[in-house]
Amino acid sequence: PTPADDSARLAAGPQSRENHLLVQGVVKSFGTVPVLRGVSLAVGKGTTTAIVGPSGSGKTTLLRVIAGFEVPDAGSVLLNGQMVAGAAFVPAHRRNIGYVPQDGALFPHLSVAGNIAFGLSRKALKAGGLSLADRLLELFELVSLEPELAARRPDELSGGQQQRVALARALAREPDLLLLDEPFSALDAGLRTATRKAVAKTLARAGVTTVLVTHDQSEALSFADQVGVIRDGVVAQLGSPFVVYSRPVDLQTAEFLGDAV
Ligand code: ADP
Repeated sequence: PTPADDSARLAAGPQSRENHLLVQGVVKSFGTVPVLRGVSLAVGKGTTTAIVGPSGSGKTTLLRVIAGFEVPDAGSVLLNGQMVAGAAFVPAHRRNIGYVPQDGALFPHLSVAGNIAFGLSRKALKAGGLSLADRLLELFELVSLEPELAARRPDELSGGQQQRVALARALAREPDLLLLDEPFSALDAGLRTATRKAVAKTLARAGVTTVLVTHDQSEALSFADQVGVIRDGVVAQLGSPFVVYSRPVDLQTAEFLGDAV
């Protein structure tokens, strides 16, 4: 194994389940500005990891590298042992990754049902023995969305409903990995707690490996199996919410997490 393998394994800790996602020494600069300086991360199958860090610390950039929207300058990303991102171009069919950007990016001209159905292939429906209508109902139920909303357009929905539609659309293609960028940022405090609970339940039921990015420390600490703290372009700490909160790796991390309470 390379040193990057070792650091990712060490970072994962002894209790981690099978590592489903392995980010190894990812470096990314924009022009002369380094953003990621060697990010390593290991994520167990079916678990949720929250990446926290101050605004501008490179959280979105990391998600975009994992999703394949940005090519890293160095390092690699392995999913199920297969390289999905690296210095060499990896074609889209080599990865089945659901990415939900901060604003959800719903298609404004399509109905709710049209948006969610966008990710469904005829082949997958046939293999699952389900009609389109049945699969849509399943997905509505999975994200706790009322089926009555099917014909509405995104601008006729609340922020929370829009985020659930975006999640259903990403889940429709049964991704190997789900990436969520600030999934609850558009919501007011009351709705955020309710939506957070619904999404946590959904992810647990779907059993999908998830990496989410948030600047909300309390969200990370309450929501995730594992928390990664990004600072100065590296993962300064990776561990269970309890360990990261109770034994922060350094003063800066302690101060950052201290904002949560
Ligand atoms: P975060 O999600 O933690 O707020 P980002 O990953 O969005 O951080 O951004 C990290 C840094 O990289 C910021 O300084 C941002 O301005 C810069 N950056 C992000 N994307 C680009 C880009 N496409 N071109 C140039 N700079 C970028």
